[in-house]
Amino acid sequence: MLIVMQAAATAEQVQAVCDRITALGLRPHAMPGAQRTAIGITGNRGTVEPGALEEMAGVGEVIVVTKPYKLVSRELKPETTVIRFPGYRATIGGEELAIVAGPCAIESRAQAMETAAAVRAAGAHFFRGGAFKPRTSPYSFQGLEEEGLKVMAEVREQFGLLIITEAVDERSLELVAEYADVIQIGARNMQNFSLLKKAGRAAKPVLLKRGLSATLEEFLMAAEYIMSEGNYQVALCERGIRTFADHTRNTLDLSIVPAVQRLSHLPILVDPSHGTGKRNKVGPMARAAVAVGADGLLIEVHPRPEEALSDGMQSLYPAQFAGLMREVEQIAPILGRRVLAPLAAASVVAG
Ligand code: PEP
Ligand code: MN
Repeated sequence: MLIVMQAAATAEQVQAVCDRITALGLRPHAMPGAQRTAIGITGNRGTVEPGALEEMAGVGEVIVVTKPYKLVSRELKPETTVIRFPGYRATIGGEELAIVAGPCAIESRAQAMETAAAVRAAGAHFFRGGAFKPRTSPYSFQGLEEEGLKVMAEVREQFGLLIITEAVDERSLELVAEYADVIQIGARNMQNFSLLKKAGRAAKPVLLKRGLSATLEEFLMAAEYIMSEGNYQVALCERGIRTFADHTRNTLDLSIVPAVQRLSHLPILVDPSHGTGKRNKVGPMARAAVAVGADGLLIEVHPRPEEALSDGMQSLYPAQFAGLMREVEQIAPILGRRVLAPLAAASVVAG
């Protein structure tokens, strides 16, 4: 159930409804919107009896939610969620596209600095890179772990880029939450429910990638896990799913973008790097993602992809990324979106 407060409802009235919900042994989730505040209710096993709440001052409407998800739903919050970062211009879900770029893995300080300088100059405002890598083979490079997180923190310090990196388990989540601006939950962990709950208790926004074979509903339910713990700063990311097609590593399902936008207020990014696995398809699918209405892009970039310790085949050369950004800048306005100007040229030389 969700309670839609009247547009003129006061903060005290919203609080009184939340207190009543808590007194019923349930959990209120107040979501202020542009027009009105809605309050989602979780913790109930069956339907909640509306009587006690319906008559309270400031309550506009009580809506019974028929979908299995509540807090991610557009019924609760008609406007798309905008994730903001105090002190930064970049957002996720705002008018400006969130451009996330960087290597698959942080391999060394020098590689991270060199890549960060390049993607920043081309227009990225978020820097990605794995410090904890979920690899198919136990013999593949597993990441620099905390050392990699320290390098990323240095990237933020020196370049003013926001940092996104993956947590693979509960221990790494604590570390990632400490160092990063956004916690990434990878495709392989999309249904790791204890990890999702832990991310829901973290104080940082979460970028949740779609599982390799997740349906739209499963994807939204995974986001619901995070939100149900009180973290409402969640962004989704389509990164391709397994199909019979073998001309690409995965099949990038761009149709999930409008499907998500119809049902949910959460922003959704597209990752054409993992979505295709092939460098020559990343640019075209990135352009298509912007055209379909994605809220941003996640692109793997490596200064020397042939030497990359992971995902070199799908990593763009810096010049290719810069070219793609110029194309995206032109497509975005057709959709009423824009690309933020690149941050000022880096004053620091890679070392
Ligand atoms: C990644 O972003 O580097 C990654 C491992 O992605 P995914 O979880 O989508 O495979
Ligand atoms: Mn990768």
